[in-house]
Amino acid sequence: MKENGKESISWSRKIPVRYTADVAVLGGGIAGVSAACAAARDGASVILVERFAVTGGNATVGGVANWSGETRGQGAIFDEIIRMQEAWDSIVPYPGPYKHHSKERIFDHEILAVILQELLLRHGVKLLLHTQLVDVRTKKDRITEVMVCGPSGPEALRAQVFIDCTGEAMVAHTAGFSTMKGRDKDGVTLPPSMMCFVRKVSGGSTPQLPKGWFKPVVKAEDLPMTSVWPNGPGGNALKIKVIGFDVTDTESMTALEILARRRMFEVLDYYQRVKKQPWLFDHCSPRIGIREGRRIVGDYVLTVDDVKKGREFDDAIARGCYLLDCMSPDIEKRVAMVNDEEAHVPPYQIPMRSVIARDSSNLLMAGRCFSADQLALSSARIMPTCAMMGQAAGMLAGMAVKLNSDPRKVDAQLVRRKIEKNGAVLGVR
Ligand SMILES: Cc1cc2nc3c(=O)[nH]c(=O)nc-3n(C[C@H](O)[C@H](O)[C@H](O)COP(=O)(O)OP(=O)(O)OC[C@H]3O[C@@H](n4cnc5c(N)ncnc54)[C@H](O)[C@@H]3O)c2cc1C
Repeated sequence: MKENGKESISWSRKIPVRYTADVAVLGGGIAGVSAACAAARDGASVILVERFAVTGGNATVGGVANWSGETRGQGAIFDEIIRMQEAWDSIVPYPGPYKHHSKERIFDHEILAVILQELLLRHGVKLLLHTQLVDVRTKKDRITEVMVCGPSGPEALRAQVFIDCTGEAMVAHTAGFSTMKGRDKDGVTLPPSMMCFVRKVSGGSTPQLPKGWFKPVVKAEDLPMTSVWPNGPGGNALKIKVIGFDVTDTESMTALEILARRRMFEVLDYYQRVKKQPWLFDHCSPRIGIREGRRIVGDYVLTVDDVKKGREFDDAIARGCYLLDCMSPDIEKRVAMVNDEEAHVPPYQIPMRSVIARDSSNLLMAGRCFSADQLALSSARIMPTCAMMGQAAGMLAGMAVKLNSDPRKVDAQLVRRKIEKNGAVLGVR
């Protein structure tokens, strides 16, 4: 049989139902970790499924080692993460030079990976690492089980409520629930960036590209947008923009990773050879940092208009406070989709309806795959806001389990009160 011009086959096999839980969180980025801990805190049995060896997603594996926006008032789980980072002496205020980042806090992302795993375990969350979501089984609008595959092979996980925190909306997409992607006109998403970490070398010359590998950059105009971030004593992170790929397509994503590594060494070579920076390559993020993939269509889609107007909602469960951070996906240079004035937005609220998948009676979402338009997401995707949303989705899931109810039937005012009681500041005025 052919589907979209490609041959397709039916495939079925029996697999063991190895795991059962009240709440299953798919994807262990900052949103997923926060969701899992919040649901577990409420007494639910929780399983978190993560395809990599560590949790944290962009914050760890993507090398994005900087909390933007507010780091206080994001809720009890995020407060605990910050306290642990302080105890490990692994977080510092942003030292400059950009003024609009002055509230931000830079951290050690390898230490964060340890902190997050311990936080999950202290909350009693069952953690499955090296385990990928593969398929979703539904009965009408209800997810009954998901198929996960780790080193033991394909197995089923059954839960009452599922939370999609995969960034690319893999649960919703696989289930066939409505998702959206990128710009309205062509579906192009915001560009990803490669994080390259360098250390200063004292004395001697810095290494350069071996001849004949990649194309040396001759003039500054040929560089892609590169932001230089502080990264610990004597260290810097180079954030290198890459355009022209679809992060929701397997082959395109593969080509993106290959090009990003080449670009990284071309850029570093330029800084070493032409700018005479004494930088030695230390490491790069094992995976390119992805700003935007698929977004799930929820009961409400947060719009850029809501964000610009600092809109409040009766069913608010989180609060955004960051600018519209939307570099153009069409050009490699530092060109934004909106001007500076338009980018600065007041604090705004995120409603509970935008973390509830419209097509399902037991799927929630949090983080960068929540229900928002592209520009609204460009603000709401910062990590403290993803954590706040994750905590809210986890609490909502826990309450739905207790009431044995569809999450959308849980009283939003009860959820809101619980969130505020747990240290999240939702007010915007
Ligand atoms: C280059 C870059 C710079 C940024 N700069 C900042 C900044 O300075 N400050 C800031 O606060 N934010 C910044 N952001 C935004 C922020 O990092 C992300 O929006 C945020 O981390 C998203 O968190 P998340 O949990 O929603 O998704 P992710 O961190 O992407 O986590 C998703 C998780 O799901 C897992 N997963 C995916 N598919 C599957 C599957 N099928 N099975 C199992 N697991 C799966 C992934 O492995 C991952 O761990 C930046 C982002 C990028 C890319």
